[in-house]
Amino acid sequence: MENIHSLITQQKAFFHMGKTKKLAFRLDALEKLRGAIKNNEDKLLQALKLDLNKSEFEAYASEIGVVLEEIRFTIKHLQTWAKPEKVKTPITHMGSTSYIYSEPYGVALVISPWNYPFQLAINPLIGAIAAGNCVVIKPSELTPKTSEAIAHIIAEIFPREFVAVIQGDAETSQALLAEDVDYIFFTGSVPVGKIIMEAAAKKLTPLTLELGGKSPCIVHKDANIKLAAKRIAWGKFLNAGQTCVAPDYLYVHEDIKDGFATAFKESITELYGDTPLHNSELTRIVSERHFERLAGFLQDGDLLIGGKSDKEQLIIEPTVLTNITWKDSIMQDEIFGPILPVLEYNELSEVITGIHNHPKPLALYLFSESEEVQQEVLNSITFGGGCINDTVYHFVSPYLPFGGVGPSGIGAYHGKGSFDTFSHKKSVLKQTTLFDIPFRYPNVKNGLKKIKLFLK
Ligand code: NAD
Repeated sequence: MENIHSLITQQKAFFHMGKTKKLAFRLDALEKLRGAIKNNEDKLLQALKLDLNKSEFEAYASEIGVVLEEIRFTIKHLQTWAKPEKVKTPITHMGSTSYIYSEPYGVALVISPWNYPFQLAINPLIGAIAAGNCVVIKPSELTPKTSEAIAHIIAEIFPREFVAVIQGDAETSQALLAEDVDYIFFTGSVPVGKIIMEAAAKKLTPLTLELGGKSPCIVHKDANIKLAAKRIAWGKFLNAGQTCVAPDYLYVHEDIKDGFATAFKESITELYGDTPLHNSELTRIVSERHFERLAGFLQDGDLLIGGKSDKEQLIIEPTVLTNITWKDSIMQDEIFGPILPVLEYNELSEVITGIHNHPKPLALYLFSESEEVQQEVLNSITFGGGCINDTVYHFVSPYLPFGGVGPSGIGAYHGKGSFDTFSHKKSVLKQTTLFDIPFRYPNVKNGLKKIKLFLK
């Protein structure tokens, strides 16, 4: 393992030279990143194919394309975001002006997962560079080809004292966490998130945690069933269900369960064919351990759709289980695979109570035409973010900061949200020296009376 301590020391020294704070430097770095990604597109597509059997379409749409779009958006707006923001000044501070300066933290550590191994390493990098930081990326060891491609791309364009990729597993991650970095940005599971926060707490390092959990999807009786079925099938089975914001489980109203089941079956066939296991573009499960874990869930409830798998290729066809309750093993933790359990309900209150009894979700999806139902769900359930009448799509809007709440994460990013996440907001009061208002001083005559005129 390369000497991590000396790398962090070099990055700190480079940061203190002040180059990364210059707007021109940041814009140039983002341009270089964009160019290198474009030049290495084939290499990346190949790596994603080898690591996860991602099809070219999925790999481009959900990894390379979204990253290029994030760079384009950031370059377009960075000058505005980076300007000191002049804010109001209260009358008690007469004579002064007030500003909020966005300044980089210093050395940012980005630890990323395997499910979107390129996007989830590079999107935080874009925000970190935009804000003027130096960055160390620790990509996932479970997708080694993509991690290697990321390391290659970064080494091609950036000196290590500015951006470096350190490949390795949990032990490497721990070694990095033992260093004095200035910001930690972690994307991964809830249990590891707790370990990361504990390490950050020891040094009081600010951090963002992008975690996971069980994200509900509610299909109410007045939903547009055909569209709901198609949009849920897309969001759930994209990347073989290995998406942090995938609908984890369904709550379907009893009145429409049969009609929904028929429409859902049709949607799966439309998207993946009659025999999904023979579809060469089906993304695979990342490891044998995860495959076994998912295969174990197939015993729960009743099989409604799918259920076939191929251990050799680590693929599982889109599967739906009915007659599920919160007691089933599939309902205990995030599923993170192409298996969708269905709970039924009669009253919306059952859904709300059911979700309240579990950790606050990362995402929530509701399919309903009724404004009243939409408001009731939005007003009564806390979740990171989500969609009404769609799934997953909120994730790719640069105008919607993305993140969880409590057990599903702390902090948010994307678009300006990324710039803000990687910037410390330094509040500064610029006071006049032309005069000096006396009220605050203890020797002023009738001081208490006068101060009460202002502070009431
Ligand atoms: P993970 O938590 O196992 O690993 C994530 C990263 O942490 C990897 O780089 C890994 O090497 C490192 N790591 C693992 N154990 C560690 C330890 N003990 N100490 C320090 N570092 C350690 O997560 P994963 O399996 O790669 O990813 C899947 C999880 O990530 C799911 O729970 C999913 O919901 C979540 N996720 C969240 C988002 C989001 O944006 N909120 C996005 C994608 C994935």
